[in-house]
Amino acid sequence: MHNIYDYTLEELQNIFQPPYKAQQIYSWLYHRYIEDFNVMSNVSKETRQILIEQYSTQEVQVAKVEISTDGSKKYLFKTSDGHSFEAVFLLMKDHQQDMKKHYTICLSSQIGCKVGCAFCLTARGGLIRNLSAGEIVFQVVSIKRDNHIPKEKGINIVFMGMGEPLDNFENLIKAIHILSCKNGLDISPKRQTISTSGIAPKIQELGQLNLGVQLALSLHAVDDTLRSKLIPMNKHYNIQEIIKSLRMFPINSRKRLMFEYLMIDEVNDDIKSARSLLRLLNGFKAKVNLILFNPYEKTRFKRPKMEKVRAFQEFLLQHGLLCTIRESKGLDISAACGQLREQECIT
Ligand code: SAH
Ligand code: SF4
Repeated sequence: MHNIYDYTLEELQNIFQPPYKAQQIYSWLYHRYIEDFNVMSNVSKETRQILIEQYSTQEVQVAKVEISTDGSKKYLFKTSDGHSFEAVFLLMKDHQQDMKKHYTICLSSQIGCKVGCAFCLTARGGLIRNLSAGEIVFQVVSIKRDNHIPKEKGINIVFMGMGEPLDNFENLIKAIHILSCKNGLDISPKRQTISTSGIAPKIQELGQLNLGVQLALSLHAVDDTLRSKLIPMNKHYNIQEIIKSLRMFPINSRKRLMFEYLMIDEVNDDIKSARSLLRLLNGFKAKVNLILFNPYEKTRFKRPKMEKVRAFQEFLLQHGLLCTIRESKGLDISAACGQLREQECIT
């Protein structure tokens, strides 16, 4: 069976002629979140028969949903080959207009991850496999359906769940293409952020495609010795190489390049590091997002003290570098950054 969510509109148009047929199917799948081909009433009987026989909407299933006290939800998905992965639905408050709800979906790109960051739970157990484009897209469809989010409501996508998106490059690009399709989910690339641990050649390749997506670099350390300890891949692509690839990355004139800085108690939370960070990002239209380390069982790292985080932020702000502290959502259901992992593996 082919996963129907794996197909771009153009691909479906080549299969089902004339092209309006594919548009009808897309509308059922992505505007009304319909899974049963039989319900697609304006699609001809013959086409529906082909869909039923050869295509499936059930290659991934929602296995479990956990709801946090802060309103965020963690979704556990099962694949047809028996693996599981997670995505998180986040309700963000708009600080200017408090009543307006903002939705963000945090997607996984792989089952596990091979980058092996010392602080990340996903890293334990390595990479199991890449997710297909359809498996990535399905996370959005099922979360929009489950939360009754109408097609016209804008949502943000962040690739900050399980996996290193740039290590699954081809499927990531296809997923972005499907997610942005005007006849489908129509999520503007501007609203899609790819978070990477820094695979320099892939950052360059992504930049050259000029898709209009946002990029977030997980920097976490300002010198190579520490960064290599935290993110082993830094030995292959060091800070200067990554910075070089970022300088070539096209950014929307109204946006900034995001640098994520995971703060770990007594590891990288001192003002000396803040000063080096300032120097490193000199010349970038940058925004630093401070993430507080989210603990889990059997980790040697600790969450930093809030005074230190504030002092770090203050230092950067005073020196003209935009810096925010990331709200930690879903901590009570282990849905926060770096806490996602295949359930079966946690023993
Ligand atoms: N692989 C990509 C995207 C997924 S991880 C990346 O590394 O950027 C998303 C973010 O969660 C990254 O910034 C990562 O460094 C951060 N993270 C990982 N483990 C964490 C933890 N235990 N606490 C807080 N953030 C964590
Ligand atoms: Fe992979 Fe990102 Fe976790 Fe590092 S932080 S192991 S790159 S998911």
